[in-house]
Amino acid sequence: MARLWRGVIQEYRARLPVTDRTPVVTLCEGGTPLVPSAWLSALTRCSVHLKVEGSNPTGSFKDRGMTVAISKALEVGAKAVVCASTGNTSASAAAYAVRAGMTPIVLVPHGKITGPKLAQAVVHGGRIVAVDGLFDDCLRLARALADGYPVALVNSLNPDRLAGQKTAAFEIVDQLGAAPDVHVLPVGNAGNITAYWMGYQEYAADGIAHNRPRMWGFQAAGAAPIVHDAPVPHPETVASAIRIGNPASWRLAVAARDESGGLIDAVTDEQILRAQRELSGNDGLFVEPASAAGVAGLVAAASAGTLEPGQVVVVTVTGHGLKDVETASTAYGAAQPELIPATVTAAAAVLGLA
Ligand SMILES: *Cc1c(COP(=O)(O)O)cnc(C)c1O
Repeated sequence: MARLWRGVIQEYRARLPVTDRTPVVTLCEGGTPLVPSAWLSALTRCSVHLKVEGSNPTGSFKDRGMTVAISKALEVGAKAVVCASTGNTSASAAAYAVRAGMTPIVLVPHGKITGPKLAQAVVHGGRIVAVDGLFDDCLRLARALADGYPVALVNSLNPDRLAGQKTAAFEIVDQLGAAPDVHVLPVGNAGNITAYWMGYQEYAADGIAHNRPRMWGFQAAGAAPIVHDAPVPHPETVASAIRIGNPASWRLAVAARDESGGLIDAVTDEQILRAQRELSGNDGLFVEPASAAGVAGLVAAASAGTLEPGQVVVVTVTGHGLKDVETASTAYGAAQPELIPATVTAAAAVLGLA
C-alpha cells in the first residue's frame, strides 16, 4: 500500500526539537531521491549516489531546516521572521512563513541573487530589502534585527534549522542501510556540512548506523575562507549560493571535517561549471552552480587519485538548476535553437535524419 511522505517533522519527530504542542508547518519537504550516478561511479570506481535536494518544495535543501524553524517560531507566537540570504533561504523562508501566517522579511545582497530566487520571495509576498553590501553584511543586520525587534531569526545560526537539515543524513542511512564511506557536499555558510555530521553522529550513537562517513566539503576558490583559514572580504564566484566570506558555522564545519577524518577544499568556477554541465549531460540532473561544487570536488579527487576505489560515496546536490538559468545559458553558449519552416523535410534535414 502506498504510504505518503509526511515531511521531515512527522517522519523524524522523535529526533527533532518539537513537542505535541508544536504546530507543524510543512510542505512535505524531504524524502528526496537518492539517485545512483553511473557516470561518477565509473569515473571513481566507487558506488556514487546523488542526494537530489533540488526536489524539495522550494527547490533546495533549505526547506528541511525551514519547516522546523518556522514551526518553532509559530509555537512561540512570532508574527514575523527575518533572514539574510544568497537566495534559497529567502525563497524557503517566504514560502513557509506565509503558510504559517507570518510575515517573511528578507535581506539580500544588492544585485547578488538570481532572478528566479528573488521571484520566489516576491510571489510569496516577502518584505524584501536589498542591502548595499555582501551576504555577510545581511547576516549581521538580520542578527541585530532579531536581537532588538520582535522578529525571529531563521538563518542557520538558528539551531532549529540545523536540526531539520540533519534529516537528510537520516534518509541516506535509512535508504542505504548504512552510512556512506564518504559524504561530499558544497560549503557556503557551513550549516549543511555541520547538520549532516550531526545526523550521522546521532545515528551512529544510537546504533542505527555502525559507521560514519568522512565529510568532504568544497568551497568555491574565490570564496574559500575555511580552506585558507581566513575570512575573505570580497568573495567572488559564479556559484552565488556559496559566495560567503565569513561562514556562520565555520568552527562547527572544521570540527565535522576533523572528527570525521575528512577535508574541506576548493574548486574553481571552471571546475564547477564543467561539473554542472557533465552532470546535466551524463546523469540527466540539472543543478545550480553551487550544487555542482561537490561533484567538481569528487571529479578532482578521482583524477588526483586521492579517492580509493570500492567505496560508497554520497554527493549532495543542493539546489535545482532552474534557480539560475542565466549562468547556465551564458556558460553553455547562447541557447538559440535553429529556426526552420514548419515542414517535416526541413526538420529532418536540420536534424541530420534525412
Ligand atoms: C545554502 C546553499 C548552499 C550552502 O550551504 P551552507 O549550509 O550555507 O554551507 C549550497 N548550495 C545551495 C544550492 C544552497 O542553497
